[in-house]
Amino acid sequence: MKITRSKKMERKILDKIKEYLSHAPRSLDKWHVSDLLYPRKSVFQRLDPQPMTDLSALYFTAGRAHHGILEACLGPKKWENGKRVDAGEYEKDGIYFSPDLRMPYPWEIKTSRKEYDPLPQNELRDYEAYLKQLSQYQACMGDDRGGLLVFFLNMKERGVKWKKPAIRFYKVLMTKAERVAKLKWMKGMAAAMTAAQKKKNVKDLPLCPSWLCRECPWYKKCKPWLMDEARKGYQK
Ligand code: SF4
Repeated sequence: MKITRSKKMERKILDKIKEYLSHAPRSLDKWHVSDLLYPRKSVFQRLDPQPMTDLSALYFTAGRAHHGILEACLGPKKWENGKRVDAGEYEKDGIYFSPDLRMPYPWEIKTSRKEYDPLPQNELRDYEAYLKQLSQYQACMGDDRGGLLVFFLNMKERGVKWKKPAIRFYKVLMTKAERVAKLKWMKGMAAAMTAAQKKKNVKDLPLCPSWLCRECPWYKKCKPWLMDEARKGYQK
């Protein structure tokens, strides 16, 4: 038996993945909840669209596969006239939102490569990015309740040597005041992003999370180091 790595075939596979992922239907006339999480990147994507990188295509593939299985297992799967009506794109105050599941309150599904789940006292801090998204769905749906399902791919139980997949589920409760404040923040951010798009200038928008800058195709245009010096030198 002989085995030979084929870089040519790897290229073809990557191109096919990117072609498939680029076809995901998404409305572009308004901002989505996920756009508000990465304000500068989302505006750049509309002003100066760039093709998906190999790395982001592979990250998407891993995340979407797990998502797909969990949604299929857990979703209520309601069909009307041949169309799924328990999932999709909804709109609130001019912003699109698509929770992973409505049970009937929103659930967000995340995949994590971290080895440990946060200690109870650190959950709000360590899940901040996930909660920033889920809380927007709760605000849009006017529901205090939310569900956060985290699928850990390689978790080390504390005190155990080997790694294995594990799930964690969290009930997330917001107060009405928090929901109202979140909706107000969303509308303000969407307006700021629209203004930046019109002006073709993102300097008044907050930065995206720093890990995104390392692979960002607009890094040199954005100059995130002007607002956060630590981001200097992320790319050559
Ligand atoms: S460089 Fe960083 S802050 Fe600027 S658009 Fe890219 S990800 Fe966002």
